[in-house]
Amino acid sequence: MQQENGNDAKSDRPLVEMRGVNKWFGENHVLKNIDTSVARGEVVVVIGPSGSGKSTLCRSINRLETIQEGEILIDGVRLPEEGKGLAKLRSDVGMVFQSFNLFAHKTVLENVALAPIKVRKQSKQEANKRAMELLERVGVAEHAHKMPAQLSGGQQQRVAIARSLAMNPKLILLDEPTSALDPEMINEVLDVMIGLARAGMTMVVVTHEMGFARKAADRVIFMDQGAIVEEATPEEFFTAPKSDRAKDFLSKIL
Ligand code: ADP
Ligand code: MG
Repeated sequence: MQQENGNDAKSDRPLVEMRGVNKWFGENHVLKNIDTSVARGEVVVVIGPSGSGKSTLCRSINRLETIQEGEILIDGVRLPEEGKGLAKLRSDVGMVFQSFNLFAHKTVLENVALAPIKVRKQSKQEANKRAMELLERVGVAEHAHKMPAQLSGGQQQRVAIARSLAMNPKLILLDEPTSALDPEMINEVLDVMIGLARAGMTMVVVTHEMGFARKAADRVIFMDQGAIVEEATPEEFFTAPKSDRAKDFLSKIL
């Protein structure tokens, strides 16, 4: 597979840097002193109990949530508050959610080609051509002219991944991308994600799929109660978690 755009730069600068990040929802302190970074081409898996702040962390990286303290830099640029910079950021940082969020009244092809036409001002012909290539890549090209509801959940999630790739993002955030899927469809989505990881895409993936973490992750971040409790390679983390909280969590999910 081709090298993804944005990951072949010579720069050693991290693609994502979070420095002293704190966030509250009212009284609820949901991100506590987060300091971490994601290197170009790195695949980071975020795991932790429900409510530990994994989604909020992802949503803060593409500014779907605002933070109250600290800073987040994408490719060296501080997250903008609003305006043009925000639109640029959103197209640099792709996001795939648990619920596929496809446009129900557009065809699969239109779902993928829409943002490149509207935001990137590509011609329809150019955008459709690239959309077909991406649908091919995620294995759903034969469904290009169907409506999303005619596809299985696994197929729809693969379309959602193709849609986020269509903007040539520097980074993709995937928040529990397989949690809403029937078991038999999980692997077809994980296989696409493994392919992306191998192609050098920078990815932050919230998932409890430990097989994926072992195969594709460079690093595991374990969160609990809003804080990063451990960061380790998958090998280290799964064989010798350091904290009691991680041990306890792993004993429940493995
Ligand atoms: P996770 O993804 O690890 O399950 P979340 O990031 O969704 O955790 O949630 C972290 C904490 O923030 C939880 O206590 C949750 O109830 C709270 N929270 C998440 N989203 C909101 C919101 N929009 N408004 C208020 N509280 C929220
Ligand atoms: Mg979540």
